[in-house]
Amino acid sequence: MQTKAFGKGGPQVSVIGQGTWYLDHGDRKAAVAALKRGIDDGMTHIDTAEMYGDAELVIADAIAGRRDELFLVSKVLPSNASRHGTITACERSLKRLKTDRLDCYLLHWRGSYPLADTVAAFDDLMAAGKIRSWGVSNFDTADLDELLDVAGEGKIACNQVLYHLQERAIEHAVIPWCAQHGVAVVAYSPFGHDDFPSPSSKGGAVLQSIARAHKATPRQVALSFLIRDPSVLAIPKASSADHAAENAAAGTLTLSGAEVAALDKAFPRGSKPRSLPML
Ligand code: NAP
Repeated sequence: MQTKAFGKGGPQVSVIGQGTWYLDHGDRKAAVAALKRGIDDGMTHIDTAEMYGDAELVIADAIAGRRDELFLVSKVLPSNASRHGTITACERSLKRLKTDRLDCYLLHWRGSYPLADTVAAFDDLMAAGKIRSWGVSNFDTADLDELLDVAGEGKIACNQVLYHLQERAIEHAVIPWCAQHGVAVVAYSPFGHDDFPSPSSKGGAVLQSIARAHKATPRQVALSFLIRDPSVLAIPKASSADHAAENAAAGTLTLSGAEVAALDKAFPRGSKPRSLPML
């Protein structure tokens, strides 16, 4: 598994991590087994959120006894992101995850509380050793500019944003902004949530042919394409151990320049949208 620095001077983190949205909706045993298999295969970056129902409880079962191997991320809902609410939300997540600290804590999307209040709470949580870094999610460049004014350079560890083959909007300005300021970009819904290109589509055929050349799968090729930029990591969600193993193996797949160009053509970036797309 390749690793990348998580923000300027940050720790090395697995380029492919594990998403957990809806992981609590199916077979609990299978979900725990999927997370464990993912960790065994190097996907030690685990992403969750207070919004994801019981996902934090599923994670607690999967990571028992292995906390030190992991880079664990959770998120505060914007409606809780006041100076006091952020701290109590984090404490609830720590309790559900049965851990004493998060490696990174994110504001899930921008809400109505002033950024300065949320950042002050993040600072308090860091001082108390309850989080090791903090970041944001679904922030466009204007929000990032404002956040930078509040927090200063070198403080924002990551921006977690929607990014998959059929939604490449962040390539226009968000990835360059984050690269310039040493902020890790974490690609969420890297398989399009539930809309992965079918093998019978034109783009799907390109994925298949590149996959065949590497004895890989189309999903592995897609993940490898998304993490080709030095600042980007990805967090696919899998509810079976087989899916987790397949996704982890993408962490060692490297595409050639010609293959990247073929995918770029098959799944064009498109023009810059007026606002950042999100799920
Ligand atoms: P995703 O990872 O793009 O896709 C998940 C879907 O792909 C599931 O149906 C899963 O099926 C399937 N899948 C995964 N690996 C597979 C494999 N190897 N072969 C076949 N199918 C496979 O969707 P996502 O859950 O929306 O995004 C990933 C994570 O990003 C989330 O879980 C969450 O942690 C994060 N996220 C963050 C935000 C935000 O606002 N910050 C928003 C959305 C998502 P199975 O479940 O059956 O394996």
